[in-house]
Amino acid sequence: MSLAKHNTVAAKCDVAGCDNDAERSFNIKQVSKTNLSLKSSDLRNVHLCKEHYKEFKKQTKTDRELSSIYD
Ligand SMILES: [Zn+2]
Repeated sequence: MSLAKHNTVAAKCDVAGCDNDAERSFNIKQVSKTNLSLKSSDLRNVHLCKEHYKEFKKQTKTDRELSSIYD
């Protein structure tokens, strides 16, 4: 018996070129603030794998701090 993912959504990461299983999903507005390029710009919710979730968090977290530098 395998631990089939019956209860999880079989979603893939929506970042272009990434084929990992999605770990979390976010609103497109949140993700569009980052420089992650998506497979489709027509999504309401963007699925992110573990890797890209980390990237997403990193970018959204530093967003405010960096904005003063970039201004
Ligand atoms: Zn990914």
